[in-house]
Amino acid sequence: MMSNDTPRYRPATLAIHGGTTRSQHGETAEALFLTSGFVYDDAAQAEATFLGTETHYQYSRFGNPTVAMFEERLAAIEGAEACRATATGMAAVAAAMLAHLKAGDRVVASRALFGSCHWIVSTLLPKFGVETVFVDGRDLAAWEQALSKPTHAVLLESPSNPCLEVVDLRAVCDLAHKAGATVMVDNVFATPLLQRPLEFGADVVIYSATKHIDGQGRCLGGAVLSSKAWIEGTLQPFIRNTGPAMSPFNAWVMLKGLETLSLRVNAMCASAATVADFLAAQRGVARVLYPARADHPQHELAMRQMTQGGTIVAFELAGGKPAAFRVLDALRLIRVSNNLGDSKSLVTHPATTTHMRIGAAERALLGITDGLVRLSVGLEDVVDLTEDLGRALIAAEIVRAAE
Ligand SMILES: *Cc1c(COP(=O)(O)O)cnc(C)c1O
Repeated sequence: MMSNDTPRYRPATLAIHGGTTRSQHGETAEALFLTSGFVYDDAAQAEATFLGTETHYQYSRFGNPTVAMFEERLAAIEGAEACRATATGMAAVAAAMLAHLKAGDRVVASRALFGSCHWIVSTLLPKFGVETVFVDGRDLAAWEQALSKPTHAVLLESPSNPCLEVVDLRAVCDLAHKAGATVMVDNVFATPLLQRPLEFGADVVIYSATKHIDGQGRCLGGAVLSSKAWIEGTLQPFIRNTGPAMSPFNAWVMLKGLETLSLRVNAMCASAATVADFLAAQRGVARVLYPARADHPQHELAMRQMTQGGTIVAFELAGGKPAAFRVLDALRLIRVSNNLGDSKSLVTHPATTTHMRIGAAERALLGITDGLVRLSVGLEDVVDLTEDLGRALIAAEIVRAAE
């Protein structure tokens, strides 16, 4: 544990040292406490622990030393007072929403949400008597209108998956707070290194740690960050009693993931920017969406909120699904997958996979055309990536070989 006179380190340093507690053995790396329960010195200590007059680990569904190191480290990087880790990113979103809301409450959400987040808002919450409203997250007038009534929570993602739409965090947080709402931001695409929603007024930040935080395709995980009062008063009772806890093993993997997060995300962002420029220069590519490019429709807003453009590039092919499939199938180094944020570059056709279930009408509203391709840029040599893309665009007859 860092003492009170510890200097205020920067995020890349906190990602290595934040939250570290050592056992009596003084191990260098974080210990893996792969234990479901804990023993007490005597019955009185057990009683005092349950009364809350003594602090002692009880059961890994409530808390675990390895998981706590991950929570403290992520909270330090994010600049949040407190964090709870969960089994998956979706467990984090579901726990945050269900812990906060009750029947009769009202939720406003941006339409451009990850598929399962969209399902929670469109399908799950209404089943429990929560009124939900979707808005175009880019449209401040739409937010203003939706938030003209008392509202209990706002859920948004920025930049969004897969079209990299950006929400004006400060403006939406101001409107939401006037309506009485708690603002929850799914910050997966930006990572805690590129965008810190709490600084723009958000109340709760949510991660799928499965993505960049592990970043090497091994473990599922999630996290919710907020004030100490909200985490302990609202979220923790829900997590403790419903059980979406993160496994200590996964927390240990995520701790090591955080140590290289800054190195990986910076390298991936640099390559993503190069790949975006490469794709934009190909005549057969109709449109490239990347927040750090000046031709992104919300470039200025994106760069006010994020320090870099991120690791995901979306691009559109005029030839629809057949053209997209030809390109995906012609890629050799970049593999077809629905995952993202990995050290391996991965390519997705959202209309037939991640966003299939939301239906054609909703896809049209979100700009997820049949020719849209999402590319998660990894850690390979960027020249190998652009060569793979170039070769695939020629093989798919999107680009003529002589061009
Ligand atoms: C992957 C993802 C999730 C869900 O996370 P899991 O760890 O897969 O449960 C939520 N939101 C966004 C933006 C994601 O990319």
